[in-house]
Amino acid sequence: MKLQTLGCWGGYPYQEQGTTSFLLTGEDGFTLLIDCGSRALNELEKIMSPLDLDAVIISHYHPDHVADLGVLRHYRQLYPKDQWTPRVLPIYGHTEDAHEFAKLTIPDVSEGIAYGPNQAFTIGSFTIKVMKTVHPVPCYAMKIAEQATGQVLVFTGDTGYFDGLADFASGADLFLADVYFYEGKENHPAHLTSKEAGLIAKEANVKKLILTHLPQFPEPHISPDNHLETLRQQAQHWAERIPVELAQPHKVWDLGDLT
Ligand SMILES: [Zn+2]
Ligand SMILES: [Zn+2]
Repeated sequence: MKLQTLGCWGGYPYQEQGTTSFLLTGEDGFTLLIDCGSRALNELEKIMSPLDLDAVIISHYHPDHVADLGVLRHYRQLYPKDQWTPRVLPIYGHTEDAHEFAKLTIPDVSEGIAYGPNQAFTIGSFTIKVMKTVHPVPCYAMKIAEQATGQVLVFTGDTGYFDGLADFASGADLFLADVYFYEGKENHPAHLTSKEAGLIAKEANVKKLILTHLPQFPEPHISPDNHLETLRQQAQHWAERIPVELAQPHKVWDLGDLT
């Protein structure tokens, strides 16, 4: 399967680039949008028709993860009916915020489907397990395995460090981690630091660590010049032999061919 970055800033869009959203495409062509942050629809349109999107999964309902969910559905709702046959878009989300979950469903356009931590579920050709994270609002990390290839993606959603995250990520080909903070802010209640992500990647023995939910600005003690490379180097130090990369809009990883 192939993972493509649509947006990777944390919190808010910046300098014409958007917030968390990734497109996962299976060997069979099935397309799953993971979170739908700001600008996701514009970026998706550069890759494929939003009419052809098969499903969406949402980690949590903070605006930087759902900002474009409304307009994605307007696109499919308002597109001329003589030019496509409307299909209801399944949107998977948790039910711990009943108001937000209810908003996932628009009759004839989209259907909210509940997920929970107690059992694995299937979306198209993917088998998915979720785990609750440490965040100010309920949020879920997800482990997505492709049935045909056995390839595994683990996405942390938004999370602070907790025991169990390395276990959850163990054996992942690609580990996509929320790293909103530089080393030195460990045990934050909402996001991981570069050091924590590196340590988890090493313990989980993943094939590659990708940093996302990136900070727009460095800490005051870190030079603003190419500060995201500093973030990456911090994670790389703790991840040791596990390769670490930054997410960037349109960057693509083929999970069957990670170098
Ligand atoms: Zn976020
Ligand atoms: Zn959040």
